[in-house]
Amino acid sequence: MKKKSNSGDLFRRPSNSRKGRRIMTVKERFLNYISINTRSEEDTGQVPSTDGQLAFARMLADELDALGAEKVRISEYGYVMAELGSNLEADIPALGFIAHMDTSPDASGENIKPRIIENYDGGVIVLNEELGMCLDPAEFESLKSHVGEQLIVTDGTTLLGADDKAGVAEIMCLVEHLVSHPEIKHGKICIGFTPDEEIGNGADYFDVSDFGAQFAYTVDGGELGEIEFENFNGCNAGVYFKGKSIHPGSAKNKMINASLVALEFAAMLPMAETPQHTEGYEGFYHLHDMKGGVEQAELQYIIRDHDRDKFEERKRFMALAAFYINKKYGEGTAKLIIEDRYFNMKEKIVPHRELIEYAGLAMCAAEVSPKIVPIRGGTDGARLSYMGLPCPNICTGGHNFHGPYEYCSVNSMEKVVEILINLVEQYTKGKSE
Ligand SMILES: [Zn+2]
Repeated sequence: MKKKSNSGDLFRRPSNSRKGRRIMTVKERFLNYISINTRSEEDTGQVPSTDGQLAFARMLADELDALGAEKVRISEYGYVMAELGSNLEADIPALGFIAHMDTSPDASGENIKPRIIENYDGGVIVLNEELGMCLDPAEFESLKSHVGEQLIVTDGTTLLGADDKAGVAEIMCLVEHLVSHPEIKHGKICIGFTPDEEIGNGADYFDVSDFGAQFAYTVDGGELGEIEFENFNGCNAGVYFKGKSIHPGSAKNKMINASLVALEFAAMLPMAETPQHTEGYEGFYHLHDMKGGVEQAELQYIIRDHDRDKFEERKRFMALAAFYINKKYGEGTAKLIIEDRYFNMKEKIVPHRELIEYAGLAMCAAEVSPKIVPIRGGTDGARLSYMGLPCPNICTGGHNFHGPYEYCSVNSMEKVVEILINLVEQYTKGKSE
């Protein structure tokens, strides 16, 4: 981006248009946003997958316009993008902030009735007496670090939507803060709100070059202080078995029962390398769907591993198991189809280590202890990192995503806004020195 001779001009927006408009708190924004149902859905044949997301996209674009953001646009796939121009003399790389607009298909996002717990006393929070649903710190340990804070919980019938409307609200507060504080120096800031993250498609139609940032952060993590830049390598693995059906009465030495062959295949995989037996950096094979008769059977797996070599080794191991089945029962008995989904973003982030350092420093400046945690999943940021936009993930202050036990701390959300502001300053400082 070229240096502007009159860089102050970028902030010479019609300042009177903002006069008299009250700054909205992150809590107010959040409560507004969760009133729109943006649950995404698999296989609707449209992008975004649901209309609610488009309605939300329009609302966010209007708000960005009203705040004075530049180049506010909604793509044909419902991606909202906007910019704040640089107000610096120095030419520094553009920095992006990204959050997703949809909520998980795993739980209802319709008619969310948030309840505010003013000053959490550390006890059990009854979400819904009729349904017997409670948030109990004995079960949900994270509650213990929020005593004395203001929490937002559900009524037990829907999710809350902090994943990721907390992130959206925090980024919008960042925009509002930067617009109302032109004395804060920054390079070009790019804002992106994406649809369909929860069904794994959030990066599909993300136009990295149109977005215009060299680096970005997704604001889509959980507990305050989390910084994530290591995620699983992930692929889908479908195994399709062909049997030979013969009348059971005369099947001796002839029948090949596809279902039994499938079980044999499953038994060849390491029994303890499954999600229920692994944690941290440990990878797994996860059988998530199966069907079968005598003629045909199929097993659907996902394979996950942080380590790329071990990930490839797992794929080879599965291929070997299929090879063995084919040797034993005849060529074509087992067919393995592997489809890579995403890779560990670590190798794309490590060359830009400062992204993690700045996030850590921004947290420390907000008196939050940074915690680097490996993600046992993938993120949009992982895919974006491989699309040329290195993109670690930072916390939102929400917990227990994707279900009715989801909750967030208003205090944490306020801290995240502070962290984002610090991050912009840190990045500017780090780059212009
Ligand atoms: Zn999310």
